[in-house]
Amino acid sequence: LFITIEGSDGSGKSTQLNLLKEYLLKNNMDHIFTREPGGTKIGEDIRSILLSKENDCMDDKTEVLLYAASRAQHVQEKIKPALQQGKIVISDRFIDSSLVYQGFARGIGLEQVGLINNWAIGGLMPDITFLLDLDYTIGLTRKEKQKDLDRLELEKDHFHEKVVNGYRHLKDKYPKRIIVLDATQDIKDIHNSIVSHITNKINK
Ligand code: C5P
Repeated sequence: LFITIEGSDGSGKSTQLNLLKEYLLKNNMDHIFTREPGGTKIGEDIRSILLSKENDCMDDKTEVLLYAASRAQHVQEKIKPALQQGKIVISDRFIDSSLVYQGFARGIGLEQVGLINNWAIGGLMPDITFLLDLDYTIGLTRKEKQKDLDRLELEKDHFHEKVVNGYRHLKDKYPKRIIVLDATQDIKDIHNSIVSHITNKINK
């Protein structure tokens, strides 16, 4: 079972990932957690290039290709082997992040980013994607409180708003795969909802 978690900055992905980790451990469910960009040594090296403040001159096309390169390695080296061993794989971000951040918010286009990434992942799509949906103004306020705005400050032109809208567009495109969770709900309620969707899928 391949599960991904997506959401704009400040949507509470990390909190939910931590709760899910505790749950899977407690219930002895064989799993791995991984993240993007990153997940492998090569992927983490690419992550540091992508997220380095020194590289804010990066061309949008370079950015698309680096995310896709990190993802190709991630699928081949980590995700596929784990799935073949029957493990539950949970990835913090996957292809939808590229569709939304690069395709939609940076304006490269969903089709182009989709083509590059579908090739990179060889069609290995998640079984379930949880989308933590949050109004962009709330997300920014949460991030301000965490003093984590550096990167966001670089991203002007309503970038954050476009990310939220991009995710909402995707959920309309893939209603079966993407499960939308209202990120303003109580943390425990969101967690319970994630767990019930996973157990339903396993018991199908
Ligand atoms: O989820 P996490 O906070 O680790 O993501 C790191 C940063 O990478 C985010 O702030 C997000 O803005 C950025 N990102 C991106 N394009 C992607 C994936 C992540 O710009 N495809």
